[in-house]
Amino acid sequence: MIHAEIISIGDELSSGQRLDTNSQWLSQQLGDLGVRVLFHTTVGDELEANVQVFQTALGRADIVIATGGLGPTADDLTREAVAGATGKELVLDEAVLGQIESRFFRQARSMPQSNRVQAMFPAGCQVIPNPHGTAPGIDVEVQRHDRGPSRLFALPGVPAEMREMWNATVEPRLGEIPGVAESVIVHRRIKCFGAGESHLEQMLPDLIRRGRQPSVGITVHKATITLRVTAAAPTREEAVEQIQPTWALIHEQLGQLVYGQEDDELQHAVAQRLRARGENVAVAECGTRGMVAQWLGNVPQQEDFFQGAVVCTPTSQGAGLFSEHGIPEFGSENSVQAMALAVREHFGTDWGLAVGEFPSREEQQQGSGEFCLALAGDRQMESRMRRFAGHPDILLERSAKQALDLLRLRLLREDAAD
Ligand code: AMP
Ligand code: MG
Repeated sequence: MIHAEIISIGDELSSGQRLDTNSQWLSQQLGDLGVRVLFHTTVGDELEANVQVFQTALGRADIVIATGGLGPTADDLTREAVAGATGKELVLDEAVLGQIESRFFRQARSMPQSNRVQAMFPAGCQVIPNPHGTAPGIDVEVQRHDRGPSRLFALPGVPAEMREMWNATVEPRLGEIPGVAESVIVHRRIKCFGAGESHLEQMLPDLIRRGRQPSVGITVHKATITLRVTAAAPTREEAVEQIQPTWALIHEQLGQLVYGQEDDELQHAVAQRLRARGENVAVAECGTRGMVAQWLGNVPQQEDFFQGAVVCTPTSQGAGLFSEHGIPEFGSENSVQAMALAVREHFGTDWGLAVGEFPSREEQQQGSGEFCLALAGDRQMESRMRRFAGHPDILLERSAKQALDLLRLRLLREDAAD
């Protein structure tokens, strides 16, 4: 199987001032062509370092895509670096020079002398036209003594120009390379909540093994676990079909820990269940400060199932709403249950979901803190104490997800009972 390397060039990238988005996009495009990307390399604007990076890439990858460093200024070194790494001389392409000149002429501007270098190309390469910019790209094949040739495409860094040139010229030319577009790589994602990463891995013996086909990868982001199933096959349909048994096996093993797929979040799963039942919810939040409400409120057509929320601090007591309902001592499990009842009644909903206040800083530091979640329905009240521990960056979101998950699991039980 052939593989590719992507090189991003520029001090603004290597110094951390700008995020390299080109590599992400190019990797996705190559994946669609069945080409696995093994390396992303980022390098600053320094000739010696660029020559080295190109030599290394051409030695280890069959396809090399570089972006950046093709402008007319002194820090744009890609032309020279490609010439240096491939041992080719830079020669002036009269046709390209004419195009650059006429571009300036059409805009009634005189061409600065520095733009001349944009018509210099390593001898024997092909030009990649750039319809909306002055910098054309470079397409060069490099012979290797131990293997077939490696093919290098150098494109400008400006994302819009780079994409346009990829679509118009690079992708069609890649199609001529043996091993490209002979297969399609398909990724599908299963989304889970409610267990730790390693616990989940234990429930999937042998699936997350290197070299397995289709492969299964696991990542965690803010307490949500994503299982990524990847297959390569001659067509998209075949790849999707290859994924199917693994997809089913994961669902079978994990049961209700799976809440959705692809870009689904817990609020989408909750929205779907509520809609299917023709029910709605209102929320009372202390600790999570409106995060649950914000998430539910951002689901398209949320008015079908989301009636509103009260976000409060322990001292505000929901601007009188809770004191009116005679809420017992604020902070206790009883008080959170009473909050759930109160919002349910106030908004006239099927469900009232409440998140209690988070533990004090002292309790958190001792690792002893808990907070309460409560869910009021027409038949029964349910509440849970949750340990408040983990990395501070994710505590808020994990707590909000735990609240949504309490409702999701309850709706699944109600569905099963009906
Ligand atoms: P260059 O082609 O190096 O002159 O870059 C032109 C513009 O494209 C600059 O504004 C860069 O910040 C931007 N750019 C270059 N490389 C990348 C990249 N890998 N991802 C996102 N933007 C980029
Ligand atoms: Mg640059």
